[in-house]
Amino acid sequence: MIELRDVHKSFGSNRVIRGISATVAKGEVVCIIGPSGSGKSTILRCINGLETYDQGEILVEGIKVDRAQRSIIDIRTRVSMVFQRFNLFPHRTALENVIEGPIFVKREPRAQAVAHGRELLARVGLADKADAHPPQLSGGQQQRVAIARALAMRPHAILFDEPTSALDPELVGEVLAVMRRLAEEGMTMVVVTHEMAFAREVADRVLFIDGGVIVEQGPARELLTNPRHPRTQDFLRRVL
Ligand code: ADP
Ligand code: MG
Repeated sequence: MIELRDVHKSFGSNRVIRGISATVAKGEVVCIIGPSGSGKSTILRCINGLETYDQGEILVEGIKVDRAQRSIIDIRTRVSMVFQRFNLFPHRTALENVIEGPIFVKREPRAQAVAHGRELLARVGLADKADAHPPQLSGGQQQRVAIARALAMRPHAILFDEPTSALDPELVGEVLAVMRRLAEEGMTMVVVTHEMAFAREVADRVLFIDGGVIVEQGPARELLTNPRHPRTQDFLRRVL
């Protein structure tokens, strides 16, 4: 579903991504872990075209992610993204936030988008919050709206960039529960996270990234309980 071939990316002289190759199969859940500044967000942003890359190739369902306008729209309607800071429109209701993309990007009829939007809000446990504005919602509720918004595009994969890092600890669980259910339903997911328990229980595979390269990757349980590379061992010692 997603393929990265020797991808490189610099910001000025800062070589942020230094040759990353990886694949994500349909239905697979891949967690990306690694220290701050190692390039995790940049990789996700390159996959759905929010950021350009300098070298190599990224393919989503066989379509190359490049600067061409058509390719970006194609990719964005296949791959949704959920951000650390929700990025909801504060002056629009939860439902309006959810139906925005389907109506304006996918040109779905409004009635259809509304019906689907309500269904998705119910799916993330917020059926009664359709008319609430984001500032009236807790961080956990806002992030669940953001997940409903991502799902509203009927994506084939969802990229999550530290979706629980901005939340108060007591609100993390409700967001992870929604993500866990999505994974069980077969959604293809790439999740940058510091939630090691989630990675161990939900991910099929974990990639440990440091300094813009994949230092180690493997089945989640194996990598997290028995890391081979000293840098992975050191990182896990510090976060666990
Ligand atoms: P992570 O998500 O792993 O913390 P990022 O991908 O956000 O890491 O950032 C990797 C490096 O790229 C950092 O050194 C960061 O400062 C730099 N970087 C990220 N985005 C930009 C940008 N838009 N302009 C300049 N430097 C950036
Ligand atoms: Mg980041």
